[in-house]
Amino acid sequence: MFLSVKEMEVRKVRFEETFQPGEIDFSADAVKQSGPLRAEGVAELLANTDGEVRIKGLLSVTMEAECDRCLGRAQFPLDTGFDLFYRPSKALAVEPEVAIDEGEAEMGFYTGLGMGLEDVLREQILLLLPMQRVCSADCKGICPVCGGNRNETSCDCREEPANDRWSALRKISRG
Ligand SMILES: [Zn+2]
Ligand SMILES: [Zn+2]
Repeated sequence: MFLSVKEMEVRKVRFEETFQPGEIDFSADAVKQSGPLRAEGVAELLANTDGEVRIKGLLSVTMEAECDRCLGRAQFPLDTGFDLFYRPSKALAVEPEVAIDEGEAEMGFYTGLGMGLEDVLREQILLLLPMQRVCSADCKGICPVCGGNRNETSCDCREEPANDRWSALRKISRG
């Protein structure tokens, strides 16, 4: 869905959309949707600004990624509000020297006649996901000795210090 600034000049643009997995491209981000993404809210052009747009709403979706520890599936249910500000990027294009000060870090930019709701949601979802992506806080990870998933099987491997294992291997290879 395209959020047209031209339309916002006349009225607030309301949206209530559902995106099925695959409709928004997360393939470059090592995450995917587990189910439909629902989003609703309103986009408006702020008065007395140079084309600043505010997009406020709610989104709910479950995302999934590979667990950082066990490589299994880690799920991240998101159900949250958002309140975002976008400014036309032409001001920057004209004056490339302009530095963006830190206070503006939360400000997004749009080019042309508006922005795609899909892009807005994708960006927001990526920001909401935790840096450390684990299937559960107490995920036991993968056994470094046998490679088994310790959440599924409890192996009897004893973790020896890495140096000892290497010297054991050397002994074997010397025969
Ligand atoms: Zn895990
Ligand atoms: Zn093991």
